[in-house]
Amino acid sequence: MEIQTDFLVLGSGIAGLCFAIKASATGTVAVVTKKEKIESNTNYSQGGIAAVTGEHDSFASHIRDTLECGDGLCSKDIVRMVVTEGPERTRELITWGVEFTRGEIYASEFDLGKEGGHSHRRVLHADDQTGREIERALIEKAGDQKNITIYENHFAVNLICESHLRELPEGAEDTCLGAYVFDTMNNYVHTFRARFVMLATGGSGKVYLITTNPDIATGDGIAMAYRAGTEISNMEFIQFHPTCLYHPEAKSFLISEALRGEGGILRLKNGTPFMERYHPMKDLAPRDIVARAIDAELKKTGDDHVLLDMSHRSRQFLKKRFPAIYGTCLQFGIDMAVDAIPVAPAAHYQCGGVAINAFGETNIRRLFACGEVACSGLHGANRLASNSLLEAVVIAHRAYSRVCSMADAGGHDHLSIPPWNPGGATPSDESVLVSHNWEEIRLCMSNYVGIVRSDKRLERAWRRIDLICQEINEYYWNFTITADLLELRNLAAVAKIIIECARMRKESRGLHYNIDYPERDDINWRKDTAVMKGR
Ligand SMILES: Cc1cc2nc3c(=O)[nH]c(=O)nc-3n(C[C@H](O)[C@H](O)[C@H](O)COP(=O)(O)OP(=O)(O)OC[C@H]3O[C@@H](n4cnc5c(N)ncnc54)[C@H](O)[C@@H]3O)c2cc1C
Repeated sequence: MEIQTDFLVLGSGIAGLCFAIKASATGTVAVVTKKEKIESNTNYSQGGIAAVTGEHDSFASHIRDTLECGDGLCSKDIVRMVVTEGPERTRELITWGVEFTRGEIYASEFDLGKEGGHSHRRVLHADDQTGREIERALIEKAGDQKNITIYENHFAVNLICESHLRELPEGAEDTCLGAYVFDTMNNYVHTFRARFVMLATGGSGKVYLITTNPDIATGDGIAMAYRAGTEISNMEFIQFHPTCLYHPEAKSFLISEALRGEGGILRLKNGTPFMERYHPMKDLAPRDIVARAIDAELKKTGDDHVLLDMSHRSRQFLKKRFPAIYGTCLQFGIDMAVDAIPVAPAAHYQCGGVAINAFGETNIRRLFACGEVACSGLHGANRLASNSLLEAVVIAHRAYSRVCSMADAGGHDHLSIPPWNPGGATPSDESVLVSHNWEEIRLCMSNYVGIVRSDKRLERAWRRIDLICQEINEYYWNFTITADLLELRNLAAVAKIIIECARMRKESRGLHYNIDYPERDDINWRKDTAVMKGR
């Protein structure tokens, strides 16, 4: 069945929903999301959203912190734009019903958190479950718009572009016309045709064995956009969050950076603090420095975790400021008012992605991207904590303003889009192949393309992942699609892109650290890496 809409939005996290709410003022919007609408990285974000609202804070300071963290690779124009437009966008979130924690603890309208790399308190939060509050409010707001239809359990498989339907003259720009979308409950692939497509499918943490990301983060948007011919940039910069709860029964639970913002101290298992040996900001150094310091200490001691000590704070303060973290730790027998929390680094955020301009436009006409799937130039080689939610709201708004000025968005309606063709595929009776490949990719990426890399490790990872991609390709065309198979194919494609970017960059900068090139090389490498299919 062909479903026609003005705007097709892929993903229901902060980026997709913010854009959808705006777009619904001018046309019909179909939001396609592969699980329940709430399931997203957004829903798990804890610390909050950075914006200059404090009395002693300034745009200049937020810009400086972002540029410093980005290690020479941020686009200054984008940083200035996101930071200066941030306060207006966060106010808009409040008018849409987001309830940030009010300023009881520190005397200001909102309680502003402080996180690593920030030189001021500037993080608006809703206790320690900011993302859940943002998702709640946005889903409610989207539900109130009669122009928005949300398709849950609908998995976007491939983008549909003009070049898939007819040959384009040499050098002509391609145009996005919609997407094939797999209804996972009814095993049916629909054709969605739209005037504009917004890719807001989030990140790819599941490429690694230990991650803070939920199961949805399999890099589908990156893989789809790559197959369609967009440029993908800076994928070597994967941020490892230094402090994921380390407990055999805890699955990917993040211990927010805001704890170190409130004076938390990282210690070895024997109680010795170690961050002063790595950075003048000690425990509040940027994430890459802290993650690498923990990695180095773990390699030295042979331990599998370090400790985060909050025992200098009262139980009353910890329960009020970090209710979810306090409660979760307690479930695992850790009373953070007394016991230090066992932590280890985990894959957390993808700084690179589909290359976009300041309006979220990709190199394919009418295809926009926003949020973690996109690479705008804000983060450079390392993301400053709490800047990603901010980037999503600012770019969603700008993308909408661009769409409003594009009067010529028609012109392709006469092109008929063929329905999805399953070919001769038959149902698979070998799902062990999928699960085996899945584990192999994640293990390979963690061992060879993690916090510390080398040419040899990257070379080995490249050969293995390339082989796995070939196997999956054969498998993909022979068997009918399932959500697991689609995710596996995307995960492998994204792993390969990460390795490709990492192999290109012959230096160490920000989140990319290669022991064969331990220094930053501004002469040759103060630039983005970029990959594109067939280039
Ligand atoms: C534990 C944790 C804590 C964090 N804390 C913070 C923080 O405090 N501050 C901050 O700024 N950032 C934080 N981040 C990062 C931030 O949450 C994300 O970068 C941001 O939420 C991404 O938003 P998004 O809308 O781009 O993607 P997401 O919120 O991940 O949404 C992606 C959506 O796309 C859907 N989707 C994916 N693939 C498909 C497909 N093939 N078809 C259909 N739908 C699909 C998903 O189901 C989901 O609905 C945190 C992340 C994590 C994991």
